[in-house]
This record gives sequence, C-alpha cells and structure tokens, in this order.
Amino acid sequence: HGGPKVALVTGGNKGIGLEVARQLASLGMTVMLAARDPHRCEEAVALLRKEDLDVHPVILDVTDQASVSAAAEQVAERPGRLDVLVNNAGISGGLFHLPSKADLDVVRQVFETNLFGVISVTNAMLPLLRRSPAGRVVNVTSGTASLAQMSDPDLPMANLPPAAAYPASKSALNMLTIQYAKELRPEGILVNAAAPGACDTDLIKGVPMKITRTAAQGAAIIVHLATLGPDGPTGAYLHDDGPVPW
Ligand code: NDP
Repeated sequence: HGGPKVALVTGGNKGIGLEVARQLASLGMTVMLAARDPHRCEEAVALLRKEDLDVHPVILDVTDQASVSAAAEQVAERPGRLDVLVNNAGISGGLFHLPSKADLDVVRQVFETNLFGVISVTNAMLPLLRRSPAGRVVNVTSGTASLAQMSDPDLPMANLPPAAAYPASKSALNMLTIQYAKELRPEGILVNAAAPGACDTDLIKGVPMKITRTAAQGAAIIVHLATLGPDGPTGAYLHDDGPVPW
C-alpha cells in the first residue's frame, strides 16, 4: 500500500468540488477529478496541474450507469487504488420550487443526481475502497437537509422559502450516509456527510440569502472528513462548527 493516497471527487470541475480536488491534491494525494463534460474536466485538470498538483481527468456522469462503470474501470486500471471518494456532484433543481407547483421531472432529476447517483458511484467504487487500508467516503450534503432545523421556526433555516426537491434529496442522502456507515464500519471504511454552508457557487446564484463563504471555505469540512484517522467518526453530519442536528 505504498505511494500517495488516491481520491476521486465527483463534480470536480467547478465550485466546491474543484476546491476539494485542489485541497486534497495539495495534501499530496493523487486526485481523480471526475466531471460529466470532457471539456470542462480537462480545463479543470489543466488549471490544477499548473499549480503542480497531481490531478487526472475522469469522465463521470453520476446519473449514467455506463459512465459510472467506465469510470470505475478506469480507476481500477490506473492508478489501481482508491482511498477517498467524495460524492460532491449535485444540482438544486432551481431553488426554490414551491412543493405545490413542483415539476415532477425536475424533482426526479434532483433525486437521480443527489441521491441515486451517490448509490451508483459508491457501489461502483467500493471494490477499490475495500482494498484501501483507510477507505473514506464523504457525501456532500446541505444544511437544508436538517429536519430539526427546517422544522423549528425559531431557527434561521426555517425561514428559507419552501422547496420540493433539493432539501428532501439531501435529507435522504443523510439517511443513506448513516446506512452506508453502518454497513461499512466493520471494514474500517468511514462514511460521513459534510455540510459546506452557503458558499458562493453557481448552485445558489440568485438565492435570497446572505452568502459569505467561499467555495474553498466550504471545501474544508469535506477535506477534513476525507482525511480522518482511524478513530474518526462515521455516520456523522458535520459542518465546520461541529455536528448539525439531524
Ligand atoms: P456547482 O453548481 O458549482 O457545482 C456542481 C457540480 O456538480 C458541477 O461540477 C456539475 O457539473 C456537477 N454535476 C451536476 N450534475 C452532475 C452529474 N449528473 N454528473 C456529474 N456531475 C454533475 O455547485 P456547488 O459547488 O455549490 O455544489 C457542490 C455540492 O455542494 C453539491 O452537492 C451541492 O448540493 C452542495 N452544497 C452546496 C452549497 C452551496 O452553498 N454552494 C451548500 C450546501 C451544499 P457541470 O459543471 O457539468 O454542471
């Protein structure tokens, strides 16, 4: 098991994913920067290579099973190992679509990406992660996933406009995180959900809330959970400030 650790980041071409790729590579990891669009993937890889980082392109659309399988085969062939999986790719479906006016096709697409895509990618990468001495999976969730905060009118989260798709997809992702954590705990693979906080990215352009964090700041908790030691938590829902109430 010598040599640098290998991390794969989905949706790594921009926003928080690009910053996670940059930060993990800066720690000395080999980073497989996964993106659905080949051109955007190559551009992001070129950008990070200019910073002398060890970054490689992987074409991966998390909603396309053939693409997911091909990506797993690529990683299995070269570099032939995987230590960290960051399930970062996500869409908002347009915040905020009133539940009463929901377009079901949009809701389905949000779940395809934010939930089913995570199952697809995780299961495809698990055979590789199982061979790592310290496999780590980080699912990028959201503060809007917090049922506790959304339902408490005294907390700021409850004042967000209602939305049909995105918060529900991330609450479901949190539950999925717990279930993977339970299954994989005996094998020493730690699986956690990271809430980056509201960061200035394309995902939340136009959202009526104050956005003070950069994508790099949002990436920090993800990188922390991607580099946990053997005594680190599993099945946790964490923000920079600590655990988020479920
Ligand atoms: P961006 O819109 O900047 O980035 C989203 C990334 O996901 C892009 O790389 C996008 O690729 C990729 N993506 C979307 N759909 C797919 C797909 N089917 N297959 C592969 N990649 C896909 O948003 P953020 O960086 O903000 O979002 C990253 C994660 O952080 C998401 O999971 C989001 O829910 C989460 N998050 C963000 C917050 C914020 O405030 N920004 C707050 C809480 C959570 P492409 O460029 O091709 O569209």
